[in-house]
Amino acid sequence: MTYKLLIIEDTPTIAKVQKHIGLKIGFEVDVASSLAEAIELIEHNNYFCSIVDFVLPDAPDGEAIPLTIGAEIPTIVMTGKLDNSTRDYVSQYPIVDYITKESHQAYRYLETQLTRLPKNKDVHILIVDDSLATRNHLNNLLVRHKYKVAQAADGKLALEQLALYPDIKVIITDNEMPIMDGITLTGKIRKKFNNDEKIVIGISGTKDNYVSAQFLKSGANDYLRKPFYPEEFYCRLSQNIEMIDNIATIKQQANKDYLTNLPNRRYFFEQAKVLSDIQKSNNTPLILAMIDIDHFKSINDSLGHDVGDEVLKELAKIFMKLFADQLIARFGGEEFAIYFDNIDFCSAKKRLESFRYHLDQTKIYDVSFTISIGLTQQNDYDIDEVLKIADKHLYTAKESGRNRLICDEDEL
Ligand code: GH3
Ligand code: MG
Ligand code: MG
Ligand code: MG
Repeated sequence: MTYKLLIIEDTPTIAKVQKHIGLKIGFEVDVASSLAEAIELIEHNNYFCSIVDFVLPDAPDGEAIPLTIGAEIPTIVMTGKLDNSTRDYVSQYPIVDYITKESHQAYRYLETQLTRLPKNKDVHILIVDDSLATRNHLNNLLVRHKYKVAQAADGKLALEQLALYPDIKVIITDNEMPIMDGITLTGKIRKKFNNDEKIVIGISGTKDNYVSAQFLKSGANDYLRKPFYPEEFYCRLSQNIEMIDNIATIKQQANKDYLTNLPNRRYFFEQAKVLSDIQKSNNTPLILAMIDIDHFKSINDSLGHDVGDEVLKELAKIFMKLFADQLIARFGGEEFAIYFDNIDFCSAKKRLESFRYHLDQTKIYDVSFTISIGLTQQNDYDIDEVLKIADKHLYTAKESGRNRLICDEDEL
């Protein structure tokens, strides 16, 4: 979905830079060079957010700010004015941020803010505080930045909310609360989730310096002392979210094959170990398949390595779609593996046969090719050993003419 950004700015060079940033992030951008133009545009469009210049020819004293705020458009104010009275005027409105144009970092910071806003809609934050007024205040700050918010009045209720909404990513908690305090809550959260899985930010109004240390020692990612400036609150929050998002991306990349985006061999073994332990305790057999493209070298040789790569990518998409419910991996080269979980041998065989038949009948990236498959079912939970048997069947499939599936009974 494309979001619309409204830029209200009368200096063409600045509007151009802002528009460039907006387009780069993926927004659809409209520019108004006066208050009158902005009124007209807002009447006919639905804007996700706006960048508003403090001084406009027909609005010299920040009059465009109540316009966008009144229309419930999240607003980032950009201004050349640094004085305190401008700042006080601006901060009476629930704006997203206030950026001064002079600063070297201004446009980079604007880009960061604009990039975050659409993502914030998917960040679920739990506010834990016994004071309704504080909860409402934090809620207003978060909603202004488009975050999704849940609330709890004490630690015990917070744990209930966490169980109810597993997507909660950030917990902002007060310490002094009845039933269960914030530090105890933090410790309980850390028993289940690492600090790169759920962010805990402790907040307290106490003068006792030891509280911040206790929060951090119990596993909080950060701590804020009340009262705090909204700017500090937003910065700490977004920095923590960026950090765990980056860790999640790195983790995902480490588990994926760079060419096809399929899970890699390392991930396959890691997950297969978890699954096989469960199967061992249930005494259900392990079912594994090895799949290899036939004469793939000749595709490379005749059509080029780039075409070979595209064939692998397209095949991976089909593979991912047909076996989305199973543990799959690109093992290397043109070789793939499947660990079948929760289905019986006959169903596994049927699904593999129809995959093989489908490839036999269809061109992929305008190339005809076939696959060979080795499939096995064993009451052995050593994955390496079972894979060796599947590989032996695959070898037999190749030897006996390719484009076929060989399983245990075929070898008898
Ligand atoms: P067989 O039917 O016996 O499996 O024959 P084959 O040609 O498929 O098998 P072989 O093992 O001789 O060759 C595999 C080829 O796959 C050789 C290698 O260059 C190619 N290959 C491996 N990884 C990639 C890749 O990432 N991209 C491309 N384009 N080719 C790859
Ligand atoms: Mg309290
Ligand atoms: Mg091959
Ligand atoms: Mg091979």
